[in-house]
Amino acid sequence: MAQAPHKPSPKKLHIKTFGCQMNAYDSERMAEALQPAGYSLTDDAEDADLVILNTCHIREKAAEKVYSELGRVRLAKARRHHEGRDTLVAVAGCVAQAEGREIIARAPVVDIVVGPQSYHRLADLVAEAARGGKDLVETEFPAKDKFAHLPERPKGKVQASAFVTVQEGCDKFCTFCVVPYTRGAEFSRAPSEIVAEVERLALRGAHEITLLGQNVNAYHGMDEDGLNWSLAKLLRRLAEIPEIDRLRYTTSHPRDMDDGLIALFAEEAKLMPYLHLPFQAGSDRILAAMNRKHTIAEYEELIGKVRQARPDIALSTDIIVGFPGETDADFEETLALAARTRFAQAFSFKYSARPGTPAAKLDNQVPEAAKRERLAALQSLLDQARHAFDRATIGRRLDVLFEGKGRKPGQVAGRSPYLQAVHVEGPQELIGEIAEVDILAAGPNSLTGVIKSEFAWREPVQAAV
Ligand code: SF4
Repeated sequence: MAQAPHKPSPKKLHIKTFGCQMNAYDSERMAEALQPAGYSLTDDAEDADLVILNTCHIREKAAEKVYSELGRVRLAKARRHHEGRDTLVAVAGCVAQAEGREIIARAPVVDIVVGPQSYHRLADLVAEAARGGKDLVETEFPAKDKFAHLPERPKGKVQASAFVTVQEGCDKFCTFCVVPYTRGAEFSRAPSEIVAEVERLALRGAHEITLLGQNVNAYHGMDEDGLNWSLAKLLRRLAEIPEIDRLRYTTSHPRDMDDGLIALFAEEAKLMPYLHLPFQAGSDRILAAMNRKHTIAEYEELIGKVRQARPDIALSTDIIVGFPGETDADFEETLALAARTRFAQAFSFKYSARPGTPAAKLDNQVPEAAKRERLAALQSLLDQARHAFDRATIGRRLDVLFEGKGRKPGQVAGRSPYLQAVHVEGPQELIGEIAEVDILAAGPNSLTGVIKSEFAWREPVQAAV
């Protein structure tokens, strides 16, 4: 007699995600990979049979933050143990990659350490840990294996705005950055794999796709005929998918911003007018010390070309202040570049040494007080530019993709083509849809407006007769 298929007993999974959108994407994929083993997500760590910390190594004291979080997990695990319930604990992400076995040595509460390229092994590792397996550390590098072996994304409705990792790792070796050490060499997924994933997301309700990569514009995925696709070619192909209305990509390196990619801002209406292009420092001397492989003149030339292709583009950037050896004069150049470029958005940070990176060994570190002062001056200038950009949209009619409830009851919130947050009074049915909004006001962090014509944006499809 045929046996009924074995159904795994239901279990709860809690994932705490630190850091960037790529980690958020990885967390989604880990949850999906564990679904066949019976795991469903919970927001409550104490309710979870499996807790995963998906860690980030970019920010200051990243490893210390993970260990203090593990202290809380240990207490939760002890409480559950007292009630006769077991908890497995896994550390994933870049701290897992960087620290490896050291994590289990310092925090014995951890059962599994899994690096970002090994998530396809997660379900097996969890099963092994559940059987009492110890010391489970998996930090191999080949990203190819991960994408080839992760399960297809499961069915069910998805967010209107979805992320898809197309590239991982980095070969640039900026002297302040851990990514080349934690994520490994550049790897691009095959175009067919990405197109299939985006088509599946489109059928499940996604209207906007953001392509992710540590160095996304270095994308060079190889197709079945052995031809390398550029990011521009991939974007053009994805724009052919009818349900997809919007495309974005992040994060780009100035060196890989080629003319084809820039031209796409003028030629492809589905590519949103938003570009995140880090410049990190405004002086050539510091850029050379950072090993950024471009000069300020080259960066500004690129910005000029991008603005020529798409004059209304919202530019965004990353800036580090107080890199070792940065003088007041160097910093003035950073301020001047930020003032000239008028960014719509910017992410600025004080330099802090990352163990294992070349810059961490430099002895001309900038005093903390100077870094603080420089950051405050820079952020004040960046805030003014952001507000000016936001105010310039008042009176315009913009397409907004609604993604969730607004701050106040009766409001819904979404994103403009320029990635600004927009709040309007409107029905919940708008969530997941694009509607035209007349922008009325710009607050400190978002815009408010009114929907142009209620329910007129998408008529129900009539059955063919
Ligand atoms: S290009 Fe970006 S990811 Fe690569 S080393 Fe530099 S900062 Fe890190």
